[in-house]
Amino acid sequence: MSQAMTAHLGLGSNLGDRRLQLEEALRRLHRREGIQLTRLSSLYETAPVGFLDQPPFLNLCAEIRTTLSPAVLLRTLLQVEQELHRVRRVRWGPRTIDVDLLLYGDRILREERLTVPHPRMTERPFVLIPLAEIAGEIPVPGTGKTVHQWRAEMGTPEDVVPLPNPLTLEQVTT
Ligand code: ATP
Ligand code: CA
Ligand code: CA
Repeated sequence: MSQAMTAHLGLGSNLGDRRLQLEEALRRLHRREGIQLTRLSSLYETAPVGFLDQPPFLNLCAEIRTTLSPAVLLRTLLQVEQELHRVRRVRWGPRTIDVDLLLYGDRILREERLTVPHPRMTERPFVLIPLAEIAGEIPVPGTGKTVHQWRAEMGTPEDVVPLPNPLTLEQVTT
């Protein structure tokens, strides 16, 4: 087995019971061989971006330790989306669950099916705000800036609102 790496995931849901689906996705990821959830950000309600005529999202970010390669990790994330009945229709459209690989240690990957760091993460408040809570000091590889620096440049958007009772690590790992 290869050495464990730290990676960061961005999760979102805007169809059905959003909170329950995020919880279920995290629980399933933690139960997978080679993935251990180690930190969760707060939970945020956020306005849709890109395709605007759809319900608001719940978003959060997670830190994991993983022995899976980036490609196998991505495949696992897509499998968990499938298990939660994600259907792909409109690009950036509504979904029961979306799990993106944001960062995989200090790796930079530009493959046909996998780009890391996630190519749109540094322009997205619904990623940077939760991610800065758990990975502020981490450099975003290839950009010369930390997550916190990217987040600070963005200012304070009004449409990313923290929820009073977030999901806890204990809740999804026990
Ligand atoms: P966005 O990528 O802009 O957040 P999205 O999450 O709605 O949009 P999806 O339909 O979920 O896009 O994913 C389309 C494809 O993107 C996936 O099948 C996967 O192969 C590819 N992909 C490339 N890089 C990544 C990454 N870092 N994390 C997740 N998927 C990625
Ligand atoms: Ca996404
Ligand atoms: Ca995705």
